[in-house]
Amino acid sequence: MTSTDALAAADCEQVLVVRDRDADVTAIVAVHDTRLGPAHGGIRRWRYADLGAALADAVALAQAMTWKCALAEIAAGGGKSVILDRDGLDRAAAYRLVGRTVAQLGGRYFTGPDVGTGDDDLRVVADETRFVALDRDGAGPGDLTAATATGVFAALTALAERLHTPVGRLRVAVQGLGAVGQQLCRQLHAAGAQLVVSDVVPARAEAAAAAFGATVVAPADILAEPCDVLAPCALGGVLSDAVCERLTARGVCGAANNIFAGDSAATILHRRGVPVVPDFVANAGALIQGATWHLHGERVGEARLQRIARTAGELLDRAVAENVPPSVLALRVARERVGGSLSP
Ligand code: NAD
Repeated sequence: MTSTDALAAADCEQVLVVRDRDADVTAIVAVHDTRLGPAHGGIRRWRYADLGAALADAVALAQAMTWKCALAEIAAGGGKSVILDRDGLDRAAAYRLVGRTVAQLGGRYFTGPDVGTGDDDLRVVADETRFVALDRDGAGPGDLTAATATGVFAALTALAERLHTPVGRLRVAVQGLGAVGQQLCRQLHAAGAQLVVSDVVPARAEAAAAAFGATVVAPADILAEPCDVLAPCALGGVLSDAVCERLTARGVCGAANNIFAGDSAATILHRRGVPVVPDFVANAGALIQGATWHLHGERVGEARLQRIARTAGELLDRAVAENVPPSVLALRVARERVGGSLSP
C-alpha cells in the first residue's frame, strides 16, 4: 500500500509531520477522530524503512485507537505518534519534539506509552505538555502497561470459556516479552497456564523461562508452536493468510495492535473455527485507565478493566451467531458507535 493509499484508508482528521532541524529528528502525529472526544494514543519509536512506512503505520494505529475507544465505551477518539528511529537518534530531542506538538494541539490529543517508549521518555514529553499519561508527584493514571496486561488476561479468560478449557489448563504461546508480554506471562503463570515464549531479545525469553517455567522457542517458530491460545504481544501484521491457514492454536488473544496482515486473514481463521479476540478489544486496558484519568481525573478499578472480558465474550458469541469474523463484527459495532460514516 502506498502512503497515499494508507492516508486515504485511515481517513484521519489531521496528520502532522514534524521536524527538529538541529537534531535531525522526524516524527508524525496523527489524530484520527475526535467526534466522541479528544484523541488518545501512545508514541511508537521504531526504525521504519522510510517516511511513507512511518506514515502508514501512524495513521493505521490512530484509526485502531478510534475503534478501541468506541468498543471500550470511552468518550474519546484515536490518535498516535511515531518517531522515526535511527542510529544516533537524539532520543530526548525526539520526545521533546513530540511533546511540543502535543502541546500545540491544546488537548485535542493525549499521548502515552507504546513500543519503544518508556516512562523516562514520557517524562521528557511531560516537560513540554500536560496532555500525557504519566504519574507525577504521586498523581496520575497509574501503571498503564499493567492495565493492558490485566485486560488481555481478562479477554483471554473469556476466550478460554469459549474453548471449554480453564485458563489454568491452557498452553499459551506468547510472542514478545516486552512490557505487556512479561506481565501477561506473570498472570498466566499464576493462573497455572503452561507457557511457550519467544522474543527477538534472547535475554527476555530466558528471563521468562527462569521466572515462569516457560519453554523458549526461536522467534521464527512461535507462530507454528502447538498451543491452545496464541498471544501476539510484539508487533502487528503477524497473521498473514499463510500463517492463518497453518495455525495450530485453537484461539488468538494478545496485546499487539493490527495483528492481521491483510483483510482475508481474519476470514480464514473464522472459517477454520478459530476464535480471535479483536486486538483493539483485548488491549484496551491502557486506554481505559489513561483516558479515564484524563477525562474524569479518576483511577479506574479492577472491575472496569474486567469489563473487557464481557465485551470480548459477547463479541465472540455474536460472531458465531452471525457467522462473521469477530474483528469484522467489532469494526461494525465501533463504526456504528462513532457515527457510521467513517471509512473501513
Ligand atoms: P515492548 O516494546 O515493550 O515489547 C515488544 C516486545 O516484542 C519486545 O521485547 C521485542 O523485542 C519483541 N519482539 C519484537 N519483534 C518480535 C518478534 N518478531 N518475535 C518475538 N518478539 C518480538 O511493547 P509493549 O508495550 O509490550 O507492547 C506490545 C504490543 O502491545 C505492541 O504491539 C503495542 O502496540 C501493543 N499495546 C501495548 C500497550 C501498552 O500498554 N504498552 C497497549 C495497547 C497495545
